[in-house]
Amino acid sequence: MATEREKIEQLLKKETLSARELAQRLDIDIADVIEDLRHVRKSTQPPLKFKIHPARCNHCGFIFKERTKVKTPSKCPSCRSESITEARYSIG
Ligand SMILES: [Zn+2]
Repeated sequence: MATEREKIEQLLKKETLSARELAQRLDIDIADVIEDLRHVRKSTQPPLKFKIHPARCNHCGFIFKERTKVKTPSKCPSCRSESITEARYSIG
């Protein structure tokens, strides 16, 4: 049986998904997904690449360029809006 991390890896090779979407697909807690994503990211070897599609503010269009964190920020640092499109991930 595939582990949670292997399932995440397999899903991200086929689709671009946010942590929340992964949590829904696998019926696990989002905190677990975020933890798993950290490990999957570290264990992804070339030529495969763990890609982060950064979160974006829906209000002012600010792009969260932070690439070291997998957690989606809750507030826009530019306009303080809480309407944020989540960061999404893929492997390819
Ligand atoms: Zn904003």
